[in-house]
Amino acid sequence: MNENRICDRLVKHGKILFHAPLELVRFTKDDAADYLLNDLTDHPHAFVLASIMDRQIKAERAWLIPYRFKEKLGSFSMETLVRQSESDIQRLMLEPEPLHRFVDIMSGYFFKAIRRIADQYESDASRIWQDKPSSATAVYRFLEFEGVGPKIATMDANILAREFKIEFADHYSIDISADVHVRRVFGRLGLTPMDATVDQLIFRARGLHPDFPGLMDFPAWEIGRNWCRPKKTQCSGCYMKDLCPSANDRTANE
Ligand code: SF4
Repeated sequence: MNENRICDRLVKHGKILFHAPLELVRFTKDDAADYLLNDLTDHPHAFVLASIMDRQIKAERAWLIPYRFKEKLGSFSMETLVRQSESDIQRLMLEPEPLHRFVDIMSGYFFKAIRRIADQYESDASRIWQDKPSSATAVYRFLEFEGVGPKIATMDANILAREFKIEFADHYSIDISADVHVRRVFGRLGLTPMDATVDQLIFRARGLHPDFPGLMDFPAWEIGRNWCRPKKTQCSGCYMKDLCPSANDRTANE
C-alpha cells in the first residue's frame, strides 16, 4: 500500500536524522544561548527550564530565556537559581522588558521547576534521564513539572533521544509533536485528514510506527518547513514527490 511506502520513507529519513553525529543543537539564533542549552553536563536544567517556557510565543524567544537570566544574574548555576525568590524570578522575567508574553504564569512555572529540580533531583536535572529510563518514565517525569503537558514532555524526550543521543530503554512513548507543519504534511501525504485533531495525528503515528512514533516527527516537520509550505509547495524538491497524492496537485498549492 502507498501509505506503507510513505511511512517507510519517513521512518528511513527519521533514522538518518536519529543516527546523525552529535552536534550543536540550534534552539535560538544566538550562539551563547545555544551553548548554554546544549550544556547537559553542567547546566542540564537550562534545557528543562527553556522547554517549559516554550508555549504561546515563538520557540526561539522561549529558548532564549535561560540565557537572558544568565546575563542578568551573571550565572545560570542551580546555586544561583535556588537563591531567587518567586518575586525575584518574576522581576527578572519582567524587567527591563518582558521575556515572555505571560510573565506571571510563566515565572511561576519557572520558579516551581527550579524548586522541583532542587528537591527531587538534587539540583541535577540530568537525573531525569540519566538512569536510562523507559520512554514512558521519562515523559512522565517531564509531565510532573507544573505547566508541562504531553506536547512539551514528548518534545523533550524526543530532542534528548534524537539530538543529544540520550539513551532510553525504549521509544514507545515518544509521540510526534503535532505542530502545524506535521499536521499539514501528514494531511497532504494522505496519512490523516487535513483537519485531523492532535489526538488523531498522535494515534496515526503510533499505528504507523509503534516502536517509535516520534521518529516521524522531524522528517515531517522538515518537509513542511522546506518544501510543503502552507500556500506554495515546492514538490519538485521534496523527496516524497513520487509517493505523495498531493504532489503538484493544485489543492496543495491553495
Ligand atoms: S510532494 Fe509536495 S505536497 Fe507532497 S509532501 Fe512534498 S511538498 Fe508536500
